[in-house]
Amino acid sequence: MLKTRELSTFDEVNLFFDDAADRLGLTDGLREMLKRPWRELQVQVPVRMDDGEIQVFTGFRVQHNGARGPYKGGVRYHPEADLEEVRGLASLMTWKTALVDLPYGGAKGGVQVDPAQLSQNELNRLTRRYTQNIEHLIAPNRDIPAPDLGTNAQTMAWMMDAYGQIHGHSPAIVTGKPVEMGGSLGREAATGRGVAFLLQEAAKDLGLDTEGARIVVQGFGNVGSWAARIMYDNGCRIIAVSGVDGGVFNAGGLDIPRLQDFQNMTGGVSGFTGGEQISNRELLELDCDVLVPAAIDNVITEDNANSIKAPLILEAANHPITPEADRILSEGGVTILPDILVNAGGVVVSYFEWTQNLQEFHWEESRVNEELKKTMLRAYHEVRARSTSEGITHRQASFEIGVQRVVRAVELRGFV
Ligand code: NAD
Repeated sequence: MLKTRELSTFDEVNLFFDDAADRLGLTDGLREMLKRPWRELQVQVPVRMDDGEIQVFTGFRVQHNGARGPYKGGVRYHPEADLEEVRGLASLMTWKTALVDLPYGGAKGGVQVDPAQLSQNELNRLTRRYTQNIEHLIAPNRDIPAPDLGTNAQTMAWMMDAYGQIHGHSPAIVTGKPVEMGGSLGREAATGRGVAFLLQEAAKDLGLDTEGARIVVQGFGNVGSWAARIMYDNGCRIIAVSGVDGGVFNAGGLDIPRLQDFQNMTGGVSGFTGGEQISNRELLELDCDVLVPAAIDNVITEDNANSIKAPLILEAANHPITPEADRILSEGGVTILPDILVNAGGVVVSYFEWTQNLQEFHWEESRVNEELKKTMLRAYHEVRARSTSEGITHRQASFEIGVQRVVRAVELRGFV
């Protein structure tokens, strides 16, 4: 096997795909069709900065597979969001939406930018220009963007407005909008809530008592902070969390509500006095019951896989573990619940938001959370059953189920 650091995120996701395709006995032609994105767009995003200068950014939208429904996937603002990464993340969306059985395909977008370096006005202008440049590829029944790393509900409101200036009022064009703009109650917390639901359910199967269980969360953004907060409210002990600048650790458990207030005031977790400062590397290697990577891709590689002490990893981020690290950990007896299952709560409630927009009808938050729980647990039990019956990992079972559903849709459509 090639050293996975020489591979891109897209190549690595395709290693997981190929492994499932081998077991499913897919033909070469079908494999090729399912691996490669259906359509890709690279755009220039020129922005007039506050100082009057023009800066030119690069943006992408990749539509990976639309056999099961309109393309669906987030938009990432990150300096390293290149085409290969966006392709890999788009492909993960195809398998994820199929795994949780939503009527969607997979897509992803990205702009190579560090949003922390731009003012709100600059971000507004960048988002509008990016939306105008991909506008001909997206539509409420064609491709529906959502927030991802570096973007949020405000970004979606700007996207909806820019799209609406051309096409008229179209709330169903994006999900993850502010509730006042047609967003769904429960969407902001949905990905983190889904992570917490899965932990409770998996803990029963693994004989883990979640009351007081020691949890480490990397990333304290949308996904990480909600996951940490809900697990904290459920009685878990969150012993460490981190942001891009490093983390905080307290063996007795962090006061998560206080840490959230601190982050809201200062913009990060560094400097919080309720724990000791640690680096992101040290955080991943802490002795704990559950590790939740909820920040960026490729944080657990063959270089640090042997130092990971958690017996259970919930992949809240997309692609945090490389295939080689996945092999090392799995062979070492670590249970890994994969990204396409664990972080699917976001796209599940995005689907609820989209249906509410199409029907112009609002759900109560309790209904959103209940339906989210049902969807997440159904997917988890399907994965667990397949993993047990075939003697394969949860990741292998998740990919098998997702790929199988997409293959079925391709066959039923008969378009090739
Ligand atoms: P976010 O921008 O809200 O938060 C990201 C967090 O990660 C921040 O705390 C940031 O400081 C931290 N971070 C950034 N770079 C880091 C680094 N190099 N090392 C350590 N920490 C770092 O993003 P988010 O929406 O919470 O997304 C996090 C992950 O979850 C991404 O992989 C994303 O693709 C995935 N995801 C998000 C959603 C969603 O609904 N937002 C849904 C599914 C999956």
